[in-house]
Amino acid sequence: MGSVNTLQEFSFDDMKKISRTALGNAVPIELYRAIRLIGMYQGLPMKGKGTTLTVGRKIGESLPVHSVQDLLDLFRDLKIGDPQIVLEEDSKLYIAVNDCFCVGLPEIESNLVCDLEGAIMEGALSKMMDKRVFVREIKCNVNGDDCCEYEVRI
Ligand SMILES: [Zn+2]
Repeated sequence: MGSVNTLQEFSFDDMKKISRTALGNAVPIELYRAIRLIGMYQGLPMKGKGTTLTVGRKIGESLPVHSVQDLLDLFRDLKIGDPQIVLEEDSKLYIAVNDCFCVGLPEIESNLVCDLEGAIMEGALSKMMDKRVFVREIKCNVNGDDCCEYEVRI
């Protein structure tokens, strides 16, 4: 039996309350990919643009992170990918993600598919910095790039 939620809303902390006995706390990456790519990218209008931004920001805002490092660590812990800051300019930050959930998929030229993950960063960074942060996906394995990469504008 779970605890009773008086707020009638889920927090990110609630996501960790798992009482499954036989199937454990993980789902296969093909399910994540199916939701992301077949459900959202292919299933929503405009390849999900707009929706992914809303969904990603909302998730990002819910994350218990208080620094850029916290956020990168959580990305790794959640196995979305292995992110690393590759360049830092005055108001810009470039974050490359290796081992992204998308690596290994067939390439589709001029398609960047990891926008939700960028929007998650955007939501988390905007909240922790208390100002509008913009995250743009500039590289993606699916596009034939060597990693997925994001430009963060603060
Ligand atoms: Zn990716």
